[in-house]
Amino acid sequence: MSEELTRLSAAELAEKIHSREVSAVEVAQAHLDRIAAVDDEVHAFLHVATDAALASAAMVDESLDAGTAPASPLAGVPLALKDVFTTLDMPTTAGSKILDGWRPPYDATVASRLRAAGITILGKTNMDEFAMGSSTEYSAYGPTRNPWDTTRVPGGSGGGSAASLAAFEAPLAIGTDTGGSIRQPAAFTGTVGVKPTYGGVSRYGLIACASSLDQGGPCARTVLDAALLHEVIGGHDPLDSTSIDEPIPAVVEAVRLGATGDLSGLRVGVVREMGGEGYQPGVRASFDEALRQLEKLGAELVEVSCPHFEYGLAAYYLILPSEVSSNLARFDAMRYGLRVDTGASAEEVMAATREAGFGPETKRRIILGTYALSSGYYDAYYGQAQKVRTLIARDFAEAFAQADVLVSPTTPTTAFPIGDKVDDPLAMYLNDLATIPTNLAGTAALSVPSGLADGLPVGLQVMAPALGEAVMYRVGAAYEAARNAEDGGPLINRVPSIPGGAG
Ligand code: GLN
Repeated sequence: MSEELTRLSAAELAEKIHSREVSAVEVAQAHLDRIAAVDDEVHAFLHVATDAALASAAMVDESLDAGTAPASPLAGVPLALKDVFTTLDMPTTAGSKILDGWRPPYDATVASRLRAAGITILGKTNMDEFAMGSSTEYSAYGPTRNPWDTTRVPGGSGGGSAASLAAFEAPLAIGTDTGGSIRQPAAFTGTVGVKPTYGGVSRYGLIACASSLDQGGPCARTVLDAALLHEVIGGHDPLDSTSIDEPIPAVVEAVRLGATGDLSGLRVGVVREMGGEGYQPGVRASFDEALRQLEKLGAELVEVSCPHFEYGLAAYYLILPSEVSSNLARFDAMRYGLRVDTGASAEEVMAATREAGFGPETKRRIILGTYALSSGYYDAYYGQAQKVRTLIARDFAEAFAQADVLVSPTTPTTAFPIGDKVDDPLAMYLNDLATIPTNLAGTAALSVPSGLADGLPVGLQVMAPALGEAVMYRVGAAYEAARNAEDGGPLINRVPSIPGGAG
């Protein structure tokens, strides 16, 4: 029974909890048991909040027993939170040694909204340090393993969140996407990941990587679950000055519409510059198949061109490090986390702390960004990159004049072996080829499972204009339903057994 509960979707669990068929405590316990059974192998979690999770679930049960309506459609459902959001009752490390042992004095808005919705926070998930990386190998606390093949990476930076879903340790998770860190791990683990419109989900209490690109978003095993979570965490927050003061797009309704399987009248743009050279043959084959499916669903395929996307990676790897070099200056050994007390001057303490506390990739990006912003180079690097960013946003605007959504493979390859790219930054960066343009433009995109290539999951990316989440979810849901029908059920059910777990 306990093992079966971990196989259900968030929507199914909510239904059972709210009808009192099972208690929220039983559901929380089933997931905690699953974590205990498989997480030594998967290492999705940096912190498991057993007592807090059970206490939160008990409160939901009590209030339901008292006849009170559920606090939200997801009340009582467990969730795994990326360890980059501050939490009052749990440590927050952002995957870095420099924050080891830090207890934040406040909850991120995302965390407080989850709590208010009655969602059970199981714990905090592993990630690349300060959300920089594509494999979770840059975590200071050791890599997360992909439940499909534990010799492979789950993607990054939110590999812990995605792996927790694929390992059936949690039905819901939260990630952040600065250049693809929700969507690429979703693609690698056969799960669903959504990068909302910039400003759609509050960044208050989200430890900054690159502030103009960072965006929190929902991760789940089904498009409906992602939509339900999106409506819990989204919406205006006066504590985040870049938060959009508009209603949350009606994404749950859009999923229900999409699930009817009719996309007639919709124009789906196929970006000429994406999905060709540099993409693994199995990924290309899956994409071609997805296009045929979308056509069968009634969508009209139109070819669009986004000529500046090819410069996206180069622009991103100037803009992101520049912002990182500024944002990470706050880790000065004076206010929080690690302090290497050399007993000498404040500057020496700072230098020794940053030397000991930051990993190699973080240092690399701070140095790159400091250089790109330095006087004499600012215009040539940072300034030029910002111009490219504008051109990419224009490419999107022109494409969205011809199509309601755009599609591409989410990633150029499937999950790669642990250790393969960790010493080759450029190879690691290339993972984000298809996801980065969306972050630069501030638009929305999701990744939905799109079959297997050589036994490993592939993702289909659906991109939409800013605040165009409804149509994006509609397409995602229609595609998911069509695939499930064709594959005889969700592919995630084929995830191999994990040693220690019943699989
Ligand atoms: N992999 C990308 C990077 O290393 C994206 C990171 C992210 O989205 N947080 O920057």
